[in-house]
Amino acid sequence: MDHLRRIGQLRRRITRAGLHGLLVTHLPDLRYLSGFTGSSAALAVTSRAARLFTDGRYIAQAADEVKSAQVQIVSSSPAVAAVQWLAAQPGVEFAGFDPAHTTVAELARWKTALPSRLRRSFLAALAAPLVEPLRWVKDEEELTIMIEAALVGCSLFDHILGFLRPGLAEFEVAAELEHQARLLGAEGMSFETIVASGVRSALPHGRATQERLPRRGFLTLDFGVILKGYCSDMTRTVYLGTPRANERDAYQAVLEAQQAGVAAVSAGVRCEEVDEAARGVLRRAGLAEAFSHSTGHGVGLEIHESPRIGAGQTTRLLPGMVVTIEPGIYLAGQFGIRIEDMVAVTRTGGQVLTPAPKALIEL
Ligand code: ZN
Ligand code: ZN
Repeated sequence: MDHLRRIGQLRRRITRAGLHGLLVTHLPDLRYLSGFTGSSAALAVTSRAARLFTDGRYIAQAADEVKSAQVQIVSSSPAVAAVQWLAAQPGVEFAGFDPAHTTVAELARWKTALPSRLRRSFLAALAAPLVEPLRWVKDEEELTIMIEAALVGCSLFDHILGFLRPGLAEFEVAAELEHQARLLGAEGMSFETIVASGVRSALPHGRATQERLPRRGFLTLDFGVILKGYCSDMTRTVYLGTPRANERDAYQAVLEAQQAGVAAVSAGVRCEEVDEAARGVLRRAGLAEAFSHSTGHGVGLEIHESPRIGAGQTTRLLPGMVVTIEPGIYLAGQFGIRIEDMVAVTRTGGQVLTPAPKALIEL
């Protein structure tokens, strides 16, 4: 990864925001800029220097991973050390921090650590995030990893199809999926695996429970792996037994909505237009009310990133963004259906990263 180039891009953004420096404490941002994968660190960036602060547990790891910043090992809070370092840099009169990832208590602590004349003026809350927008657009190396992560997801789906049978507990399905994920090289799951069977499929976020898979009914699997720090995310809904006509029709409507959403993805298109492409199909099928969330979200080092593919979202898609397209319907007491792909935005359309089958599978 070209971390130095990223810090260069960040410096231009810091200057444009009228700041002299930036404190980065959100770990995914920090990893993006420095490659550091530890769990405790802060990064300080000025127009001339970049320094990463971490503690003694990470001496070897930081030396190995971090090439784009100097590393300083500290015995107290890395963020406090970073703030003090920024304040000591010549010409740095104020520095930004990201209020979306800072607690009131942390801010108070940072201020207390500053010389009293700087306490009021030195730290400035960013009006808009500076690092995150860089992360929205993936470079070629990131895309390669994300393609790989998405394909691991597809192999998991393929594997689990051979495992599913009525009577299994949902958590057994999740356990098998997660065990297999580790064997395929995943560092972990990108979120808590969703296994929602029968009437539970009507819960958009039905985590795997002790509930047993029914002889007849939908089963929604929503899962993702982390590979080299990057998250995958996909959902497939299968049927145990033979679906009734209304269930088949409902599945077809969600599939068409999902395909319309995928087809709408292209550079320059507003997120709300992609949402409407999917939502319109379900509205015409009389299922508007049953589709209770937005169509998708950005994904990358974090499972939920910007942009949000939802109504009223005017952000335009850029080549290199990776978003999910995941319309669903939820009929309480009956069933639910969701289908989700990861799609990389290209100049002329979208590249589906999760090519696992979407036609209704009956088991
Ligand atoms: Zn998902
Ligand atoms: Zn998702």
